[in-house]
Amino acid sequence: MPQPVFVRADDTRVFVRELDRPYPLIVRGRGVWLEDRDGTTYLDAISGGAMVTSLGHGPNPAIAAAARQAEQVSFLYNQQFTSPAQEALADALCGVAPPGFEHVHFTSGGAEANETALRLARAYHVERGEPERTRVISPAQAYHGPTMATLGLTGRPGLQAPYDPFIAPQLHIPPASWRFDSTGAEALEALDGAIDAAGPRGVAAFFIEPVSAAALPAYSPPEEFWRGLDARRAEHGFLVCLDEVVTGLGRTGTWFAAEQLPLEPDVVTTAKGLGAGYAAIGGVLCHDRVYAAIASGSRAFEHGHTWDGAPLPCAVGLAVIEQLHEGGLVGRVAERGPSLRDELAAPLADVAMVREVRGRGFLLGVDYVDPRDGESLLPPELGVARRIDETALANGLCVYSTQPTADGWAGDQTLLAPAFVASEDELAEMIERLDRTVRTVQAEVERELSASGAPVAT
Ligand code: PMP
Repeated sequence: MPQPVFVRADDTRVFVRELDRPYPLIVRGRGVWLEDRDGTTYLDAISGGAMVTSLGHGPNPAIAAAARQAEQVSFLYNQQFTSPAQEALADALCGVAPPGFEHVHFTSGGAEANETALRLARAYHVERGEPERTRVISPAQAYHGPTMATLGLTGRPGLQAPYDPFIAPQLHIPPASWRFDSTGAEALEALDGAIDAAGPRGVAAFFIEPVSAAALPAYSPPEEFWRGLDARRAEHGFLVCLDEVVTGLGRTGTWFAAEQLPLEPDVVTTAKGLGAGYAAIGGVLCHDRVYAAIASGSRAFEHGHTWDGAPLPCAVGLAVIEQLHEGGLVGRVAERGPSLRDELAAPLADVAMVREVRGRGFLLGVDYVDPRDGESLLPPELGVARRIDETALANGLCVYSTQPTADGWAGDQTLLAPAFVASEDELAEMIERLDRTVRTVQAEVERELSASGAPVAT
């Protein structure tokens, strides 16, 4: 049996993100499988660790498309040039976007797309003569990127510290999850409070993932919340920006998750699945009414990073969209998603530490609680999220777990986001390995909790 190969902080010149975390040394990927230097294999249930490789790993037509493009022209700065690749990708992306979304600005990734969306929301109001709109409201249990502006969109102090002096004071509301408010009524009340706090015509935008990824895996607020948000937008005149960095390009069973909501957004961002791991690319799409504010105003939207809309990543994005069309992959995710959720939930039904298994397309989440009462957050010192990821790796499975417990909005959770091309056998194997992992960790947790006699958190 090959032994797993890990690189640790002490052995590398790479400034790793977590100095106590061992990093598998991966040399090869094929479909949903990753292989390390000495031949240990992992089933990648999280698309390269970050919900990116929706077409799987390995040889892909996007590589040939990138090579062909590079032979023609690889790089152009889109402040001064455009290319058939950028033009064709804009057509293809707007072609699968919600109605009325006819313009896109390309970026190199998700946070850049969200920064651009923030800038666009602000520019929209300034162009229309409402410069007093400076505040953005978002659910506290959120993640929209690691840049200073996008960090302002989360209400999780654990993510902001120690950079809070650099971060804009945005407004946050609690998530309408089972833990706080399953109807959405309290979240709407909190939204009213935030709108009041911003003052008359003080809100520029409401920013939210239509279906959450890492922050609250596969969770979407109840219908009531979306309808209430729509009504408040009509009354107060702010924009609704959807972060579809994860959900865009088919992840939840429609090209954009926006299609599943009872409200029409104003701005939509996307990234990860657009390059599918073959190029770094994202995009910000806006509704015609937002575009019109610029087009009939200053006629300039000054925002640009060097690689925005360059021919090479655009050629990759185009090849990805073509494959999604040709393989009917968005349809597959829509069709298979509900039964996949049920198949993941079934074996975990008798695991006391699992409170909820959520799913939307190929975005799945497991929500853990203290097994002693089936409700409270797990004591953070148990480090359940970390244990799940480590035990999963030992079982040859890659998942992504988070432990935002310290922020109070959610407990330990695991996110799964397999490639859209995963076979039936691979999906079954994913479920079996996760079930085994969760049971092992629950047994450890129960042993430690009963040995320590720690009280249930309230
Ligand atoms: N939004 C969401 C919902 C994300 O999950 C992420 C990345 N995990 C981002 C934004 C930031 O994207 P990037 O890392 O490409 O900047």
